[in-house]
Amino acid sequence: MLDNLTRNTDVVIVGGGLAGLFCALKLAPRAVTVISAAPLGLGASTAWAQGGIAAAVAEGDSAGLVDETIALGLAREAGARIHDLLQYGVPFDRDEGRLAVGREAAHSARRIVHVRGDMAGRAIMSALIEAVRRTPSIGVIESYVAEGLLTLDGAVTGLQLRDVGDATAKPVTIASRAVVLATGGIGHLYAVTTNPAEASGLGLAIAARAGAIIADPEFVQFHPTAIMVGRDPAPLATEALRGEGAMLINDKGKRFMPARHPLAELAPRDIVARGVFAEIAAGRGAFLDAREALGAHFSEKFPTVHASCMAAGIDPAKQPIPVAPAAHYHMGGISVDARGRTSLTGLWAGGEVSSTGAHGANRLASNSLLEAVVYAARIAEDIGGSPIAAPARLPATSMYQQDCAIPALEGKSLRAMMTSHLGVIRHGDRLAEAVRAFARIERDTANIALRNMATTALLVAASAWARRESRGAHYRIDYPTEKPALAHRTMTTLVAAREIAASLSERAPARTVEHAS
Ligand SMILES: Cc1cc2nc3c(=O)[nH]c(=O)nc-3n(C[C@H](O)[C@H](O)[C@H](O)COP(=O)(O)OP(=O)(O)OC[C@H]3O[C@@H](n4cnc5c(N)ncnc54)[C@H](O)[C@@H]3O)c2cc1C
Repeated sequence: MLDNLTRNTDVVIVGGGLAGLFCALKLAPRAVTVISAAPLGLGASTAWAQGGIAAAVAEGDSAGLVDETIALGLAREAGARIHDLLQYGVPFDRDEGRLAVGREAAHSARRIVHVRGDMAGRAIMSALIEAVRRTPSIGVIESYVAEGLLTLDGAVTGLQLRDVGDATAKPVTIASRAVVLATGGIGHLYAVTTNPAEASGLGLAIAARAGAIIADPEFVQFHPTAIMVGRDPAPLATEALRGEGAMLINDKGKRFMPARHPLAELAPRDIVARGVFAEIAAGRGAFLDAREALGAHFSEKFPTVHASCMAAGIDPAKQPIPVAPAAHYHMGGISVDARGRTSLTGLWAGGEVSSTGAHGANRLASNSLLEAVVYAARIAEDIGGSPIAAPARLPATSMYQQDCAIPALEGKSLRAMMTSHLGVIRHGDRLAEAVRAFARIERDTANIALRNMATTALLVAASAWARRESRGAHYRIDYPTEKPALAHRTMTTLVAAREIAASLSERAPARTVEHAS
């Protein structure tokens, strides 16, 4: 396997989730190599998606940063991409022969297609994995992690990989003319999250380190109803439950969302997340009550949620489910244009690791799967349309040689600090503290895995500190309102984030205490 790895390849796709596999299938019969940190089917958020996929896109978001042209483009291509998924074998639910559509939070109409209630992600992944295994032009390398991009004269010419099972093994390099990053989100950088361990912002970090422009990193969506049963990551109680009438109550049995928003439980995620957070902070707890809305039908309509609850000794047909907000989706990411090109020659990005402008400061449920397929197809078209160039050249030396096992304590305290300092409610002083702490790790650690975590954490923290307003999922208690003058996207780089950190360290050197409990 390692001998094959060192060969020169034409196209490498990093990530075996929806964006990566769909892009590989769309590039067929062109030869591609897919690299996945985990065996296909594991370690990808896609497999966990319960709500479904938007078959059309709603009109903008609540936070004013959605690029309407991009959103309209998604809407226009939705039908064709859902047709592709049907061709690859995804068994979407049907109603008298036609695709059945349902409604989710903040969508103004029924427009989401599902598979057997809450099984969409798993069904999409198993259909795509089967299709990939049947396609001879796609080579798959499983359980290897991309830990760095290799660049020559400012262009990406390859990447550095490491065997996940052997943290001290020498890294392997691959030369590639085109690299597509489809590595998913950053949720696992947080201590409380719905995302798998592989979603720890690695793709974003390696692109930023290579000099790519990063967009909107401060916008992290918190899912309001992660099921709190002591698991990491926390299982999810899908939004569709609230779409079906499940209500949020506190330990007194009182609903708290109607007082906060006219749409109550179906308000935008950030508002519901803050409502849930406030009840928990006030000591009243928060619970999702589906007893009346679903009762005995719970297990048949939402088998995944039902199984997660039952495994923790909660029967959701008869008992309210304890919930809390958890880091769930990254609206920010590697900035890409409408073809999925990043700011670096030779590098494309698709799926959650990218930022297209479609989600603004607050994504609508089910738009991310749609965005992943639409952009994966566009990237394939962009790469596929160009002739195979001369083989890529690599720089003479490999970048990193260090041990890459994440030191448990440092990894844990970084995740704790993300949750406590960059969570549902943020404050300038704590953001500054986080910026300084992450910058110090990013600068000083010799451990590449920890450094990659710190790189992404620093980008999120520096941009959150710099955005002195509240907008969408970014809520600052010291700047609680939206400022019209700031109604624009953030475009930043790792260099800019380091500069923010340097200026904050000069201002308050005595307060750079690192406490992340
Ligand atoms: C619990 C849950 C429920 C969700 N429900 C919905 C929903 O109903 N509707 C919706 O639209 N969205 C939903 N989302 C969001 C959606 O699932 C994701 O945004 C989407 O699946 C991302 O797809 P992706 O292909 O970009 O990433 P993923 O599916 O996460 O795949 C990323 C891949 O990259 C690999 N990887 C990561 N880093 C590296 C590396 N450095 N080297 C090699 N490989 C790497 C991973 O192992 C994985 O194979 C949900 C997310 C979660 C967590």
